[in-house]
Amino acid sequence: MTYPFETFRATQKQTDFIQKKIPHVASVMPEFFRVMVVAYTSIDQKNLYGMPHGIRQDLGVETSLKLLLIACCNDRLIAANESAKSVLEKLRVLTLLWYAKGANLNACLFFGYYFYTQHSNALYLVKSILQQNEFLVDVSQNLSDNSESESLFKAMRSSAWYKSVGGLGDKLSTAYVQEGDYIRTDLPKPGYLVHFKKTGMYDLRVPMFLDPAEVEVPVIQQSKVIVSCPKCHQKCRGPLFEHIEVSCPTCQQKWSQRT
Ligand SMILES: [Zn+2]
Repeated sequence: MTYPFETFRATQKQTDFIQKKIPHVASVMPEFFRVMVVAYTSIDQKNLYGMPHGIRQDLGVETSLKLLLIACCNDRLIAANESAKSVLEKLRVLTLLWYAKGANLNACLFFGYYFYTQHSNALYLVKSILQQNEFLVDVSQNLSDNSESESLFKAMRSSAWYKSVGGLGDKLSTAYVQEGDYIRTDLPKPGYLVHFKKTGMYDLRVPMFLDPAEVEVPVIQQSKVIVSCPKCHQKCRGPLFEHIEVSCPTCQQKWSQRT
């Protein structure tokens, strides 16, 4: 089975950033991945023998996640008062980038299982670790001069999502989340919560939460479709097909999407 993010590779700039700018994170990531591989194997065996209460060996995940979050604080990637949801999003990016440097795929599959599918458990765990961490790291540090990491996280989050008949997609990559792999939520904030519960086809390029403001619903009029350019927001009109390829007349940006 091939997962949609498997061929994702980090740019040289991203790889350099991890090695040089976030040394604490780079030093704990191998252990985080090691325990996630063990945890994945335990879940895999559970499925293989069909036992609902298989031997769970994912306890190490909690400890190494704690060390990772402390490393994130020390490298000033997360702020002391940052929400657990925002921290989860950063963990997704760090995991994807570490994988892209050549790390184990099964670790990412456990990450997908735990952070998307078991989302509320993961959120609760991260929240409680962050509360404990307040006593362990200097909470007075702020992130104001760490714009390089902010732009890294921003670049790893597409804001060009669209809604099609069968799901949610990203105009700028092949990332696509089928109907049934996400739910529309209203509380605490309206949006799409991605959980991959239907297919289990985790795609670590997809944020766990999408704001409706960043998901365009194409306008369909008399067998024409109107979509906006992901780069300059120019409205582009074309014939309505299931898959469309668009070239923006204003900025020449090309992209393809489903309708
Ligand atoms: Zn454009």
